[in-house]
Amino acid sequence: MRMRSGVLPVFWVWVLAALPAVACQADVVTRLPTKEKVLALTFDGCETVTPSYVDESIAAYLAREKIPFTLFASGKFARRNRERLAELAALPFVELENHSDSHHLHMERLSRAQQQGEVIGNEAPLAAITGRKPRFFRFPGGYYDGAALKAVEDLGYRVVHWSFASGDPDRHLSAERLYRGVVEQSRPGGILIFHINGRGYQTGAALPRIVETLRQRGYRFVRLDELL
Ligand SMILES: [Zn+2]
Repeated sequence: MRMRSGVLPVFWVWVLAALPAVACQADVVTRLPTKEKVLALTFDGCETVTPSYVDESIAAYLAREKIPFTLFASGKFARRNRERLAELAALPFVELENHSDSHHLHMERLSRAQQQGEVIGNEAPLAAITGRKPRFFRFPGGYYDGAALKAVEDLGYRVVHWSFASGDPDRHLSAERLYRGVVEQSRPGGILIFHINGRGYQTGAALPRIVETLRQRGYRFVRLDELL
């Protein structure tokens, strides 16, 4: 059977043009691929210059209540908090992932070699804690461009950000406003973001109510790797 010329070739040109972009570069993940009432709690363990430690008002609560969560640690934070992170990562409901080595706030301004160095430099500290290579990456401050994204994805990572900012690094945000903001903006498949390095000022105070209310509304919590 002969194909009519003109129609199909145009279609195939379009398909071939579209394929590489789809195959080589995914978008930054900002929600889980589900319509079910599922949420991912994620916490950033950032350290740039000032020494930062695991916020026990958050970590102890999550561990005690066995609530699944994902912690994105920078290299400095991972090295400084190695013992505590090892205890947490040993829990089956805790996932530890890559938040760059030095937490350079604008990775999009670095060269490709430097960008990949930021990712690879944190693999050994994290692997020393978890025994495996991390799978997910989060850009410091959420700043990136297409080239930075590709540099990270070429190393085999999926880049995971968040559905909406909780705003917890704001000293002026009360626990009540943090609670209401998160509960009101949560939707099925949402990825929530907080800070577990002492900069989530009211997170430890607000988190139990956030978890309780969302569970009452039918939500359950998952690690990122359960759905990505
Ligand atoms: Zn950070």
